[in-house]
Amino acid sequence: MTVQEIRSRYPALRATVYGKPLVYLDNAATAQRPRCVLDRLQSLASRSNANIHRAVHRLAVDATEEYEATRDAVRDFLNAGSREEIVFTSGTTMSVNLVASCFGEAFVGEGDEIVVSVDGHHSNIVPWQMLCGRKKAVLKVLDIDEFGVLQACSLEKLISQRTKLVAISHISNVLGLINPVSEIVRIAHGHGVPVLVDGAQGSVHEIVDVRAMDCDFYAFSGHKVFGPTGTGVLYAKKKWLEAMPPYMGGGEMIETVRFSGTTYAPVPGKFEAGTQNFNAVPALQDALREAQSYKEDTELLQNQKDITAFVTDALARDSRIRLFGVPRGTETKIPLFSFTVEGAHHEDLALILDKMGVAVRSGQMCAEPLMDRFGVTGMLRASFAPYNTMEEAAYFIKSLNKAIDMLT
Ligand code: PMP
Repeated sequence: MTVQEIRSRYPALRATVYGKPLVYLDNAATAQRPRCVLDRLQSLASRSNANIHRAVHRLAVDATEEYEATRDAVRDFLNAGSREEIVFTSGTTMSVNLVASCFGEAFVGEGDEIVVSVDGHHSNIVPWQMLCGRKKAVLKVLDIDEFGVLQACSLEKLISQRTKLVAISHISNVLGLINPVSEIVRIAHGHGVPVLVDGAQGSVHEIVDVRAMDCDFYAFSGHKVFGPTGTGVLYAKKKWLEAMPPYMGGGEMIETVRFSGTTYAPVPGKFEAGTQNFNAVPALQDALREAQSYKEDTELLQNQKDITAFVTDALARDSRIRLFGVPRGTETKIPLFSFTVEGAHHEDLALILDKMGVAVRSGQMCAEPLMDRFGVTGMLRASFAPYNTMEEAAYFIKSLNKAIDMLT
């Protein structure tokens, strides 16, 4: 597939801002959606709008089948062992909160420890902090080096007899480096400690195989993999889903309800209380098909590699720029670049770039501990998707240079 071919599937990319063609480089925050996803959303709302898992009428049966077929598609996408290990959520944040709540309720007590990493998104730090607060447990932090490389080897020392879980990201939304997840899982499992992987960025850029990775939990968001907002996934090994108490009580998560006591539905139903997002979840099938095809296409992959090399080189060569997340050896970087510019505030740069048609992210990127680790208050981030072209990368660098010259 050529970049132009897939680009043409995304109506939002035809937009202009301030009379300039939109150069959308905020894909790590949310990706645009292809026509097939937009069409499916419309058809779900207009042709199969019925609540699922409840009624016997035709519309409800169709809606239920579409929703459940998505569970199979997610199973394939993650190479999970069974469809029962797939729980639908509203996104990565809810998936992590679900585990922090349910796993924490059952398995974490006073004096126990949870390990998170300094490059974590707030959604993979704060739920664990909240749990530690509730249970009087202790939060421990795995560090990175000055280049942003996660110090997997330090995990061995960080894990103790009291460690109950390790929560890390597959790829940081700031550094763009693929973390050594399998190594972390191996070390943690060596001590009998389960691992949760935040796959919000990893699910977009890497072929995910949860069985090969052997992680216990894997979370991702639909809107980052070209799918609808308000959809998300928690993969969890069946043994954990069966051992954890439910997250929320309500309709359809039960087996029987009596005032004398309630029993719960088999997994994964136990974790899907109340009316689910049946108008959006089936569109994930289309999104995941797209996302997977991009990951397997040599031409698109080469374009991503070329963009990564070109932008890394352009930013690294500029002495005014400090780039975070620089591969030193075998680390792989995705086309995601966070940096600061000496003498120019990230927000001012983002505003000027916007006027040139370039959409980038500025701020603390939901990763304040990481900002503190580098001693900065915020960064500018350009994150590319498979539909971004080399011409856009060149235009971004040219526009950035202009913006820096205006401010310094
Ligand atoms: N983790 C990472 C690494 C992310 O990039 C994001 C989104 N920026 C999240 C978690 C949270 O995802 P969501 O807001 O979709 O729940």
